[in-house]
Amino acid sequence: MWIDTHCHLDAPDFGADHALAVAARSLAAQRGVMRCVIPAVMRQNLETVRRLAHRLGDAYALGIHPLFVPRAADEDLDALDAALTEHAGDPRLVAVGEIGLDFFVPALCEPAMRERQIRFYRAQLRLARQHGLPVILHVRRSADMVLKYLRELPTGGGIAHAFNGSAAQAKAFLDLGFKLGFGGAATFEPALKLRALAAGLPLEALVLETDAPDIPPQWLYATAAERSAGKAQGVNTPAELPRIGGVIAGLRGIAPERLAEATTANALSALPGLAALVVQR
Ligand code: ZN
Repeated sequence: MWIDTHCHLDAPDFGADHALAVAARSLAAQRGVMRCVIPAVMRQNLETVRRLAHRLGDAYALGIHPLFVPRAADEDLDALDAALTEHAGDPRLVAVGEIGLDFFVPALCEPAMRERQIRFYRAQLRLARQHGLPVILHVRRSADMVLKYLRELPTGGGIAHAFNGSAAQAKAFLDLGFKLGFGGAATFEPALKLRALAAGLPLEALVLETDAPDIPPQWLYATAAERSAGKAQGVNTPAELPRIGGVIAGLRGIAPERLAEATTANALSALPGLAALVVQR
């Protein structure tokens, strides 16, 4: 049994009424995905992810994603605080997320926007501490800064999602009690550095995720040439998780069942609230 620790099942790609999310989720269940974690990205979808997680029998996180900071208002942090308070007793609420820093997108690297991202990130680390929740981190070209503020405002751990840093940065997250999220990016043969980490990190370090509908695995990915020839980009769904896990198990030379068992235990350790939602053997 697998856990998809990061999938945006509320994304518009899955239909306005989430019909495609429901279908993808049931296919994922048939393939052995027992739980998904649906992170929020902005004030406007806090309620959507909560409802969808309840509808699908999954878990959710509440937070403001760095890519959505430019359109967020300061009061959205108060709205997030209020939502975390209102749903504190909800067993499906397992983290504050998706939060972090993105220094890849040029518009987000302008000095004022860097400062705003940092302010939102630190405010949300404080909220995670106040509410006793782990965090789900978005880390893009920003690992050292993300780590700096985590040391200043330690949380109860969590997940560095779509990890793509160095071995030293991986160790720094692990030392702070974090797990590292691996998914479709590791299915591409040219991703040598990432594959070396997926193969070589201690088994206790890894959790699995699809980041659906983004980060399609190699078998869904249409190259620029294929797209110009009319082939559509494949939409990633949590149903791909077992196959992604199979590739990572292959890189490590272990059976997929062993990877599933270990990464499920790791997910429960990173997001302790999940334990109540998972029937353990
Ligand atoms: Zn995400």
